[in-house]
Amino acid sequence: MSILDWFAKQEKSEPSIQQQQEREIADGLWTKCEACGALTYTKDLMVNQLVCPECGHHFRVESSERIAQLIDKNTWKPLNEHLTPTDPLKFSDRKPYCDRIKDTQEKTGLVDAVQTGTGLIDGLPLALGVMDFRFMGGSMGSVVGEKICRLIEHATTERFPVVIVCASGGARMQEGMLSLMQMAKISGALERHRNAKLLYIPVLSHPTTGGVTASFAMLGDLILAEPKATIGFAGRRVIEQTLREKLPEGFQTSEYLLKHGFVDAIVSRTQLKRTLAQLISIHQPFFPVLPPLDVNDKHHHTEEVAFKIDGKQL
Ligand SMILES: [Zn+2]
Repeated sequence: MSILDWFAKQEKSEPSIQQQQEREIADGLWTKCEACGALTYTKDLMVNQLVCPECGHHFRVESSERIAQLIDKNTWKPLNEHLTPTDPLKFSDRKPYCDRIKDTQEKTGLVDAVQTGTGLIDGLPLALGVMDFRFMGGSMGSVVGEKICRLIEHATTERFPVVIVCASGGARMQEGMLSLMQMAKISGALERHRNAKLLYIPVLSHPTTGGVTASFAMLGDLILAEPKATIGFAGRRVIEQTLREKLPEGFQTSEYLLKHGFVDAIVSRTQLKRTLAQLISIHQPFFPVLPPLDVNDKHHHTEEVAFKIDGKQL
């Protein structure tokens, strides 16, 4: 046996630990953290809601997974799931927009970059929209705008709170002006929801940028963000060129925005469902619960338990 044969045999029979690890990562058995490099058993990572148990890094979450994380089991009812994009401008960059839509739909199993619907969160009704960054960078075209708008209008009619989990590169350039119009349309729907005294909470995940930041991501009654998410409108280079000044390090992160009052709280994903449910329960439309009437109690006066809401005697 030549020395080369011997090496070949060794390689075949005993894969090095590193090779074994690489194979297991490729098989999806283990996931390597993008931030700290720690290897986590993928099943454990899923149980921990795709948050690295070592360093707290938040991996990107697909929309269906996010819905499963937030909504009580078997209560999710999708809305307008068959709204599909068209190509009104016959736009083409490296490939025609209509082909790009078809390819992305096949690859992701989604119709467009947002899923909307209603369900319960810890037993409380909620209208939820979840953007999916895998679908053309979570960009907002006519379908994303229309689905979010219809979600908010449905919530206004049903008197539901709205939560939208944002993950977007901004407006979808392939639909040009039609994408930009969605910003005003959604803002209008949110204003009507607000006038009905209902709660809206956007959750900013990594990344939330462009037209989404410039509209519904920043219009919340309370604005929550995930740790270390990139949140901004334009990129650093564009702003620096426009303002002609140097910008501070990390100025487009959740932490910086919290410090400067653009974000109300940074919530770890593992605490997100509980936090949202608590906030919603505090801000529920007020239904008074009157104490049961004790007919034997001579001192009972109904006036003492009666009170007014919006000037109406109950
Ligand atoms: Zn990590």
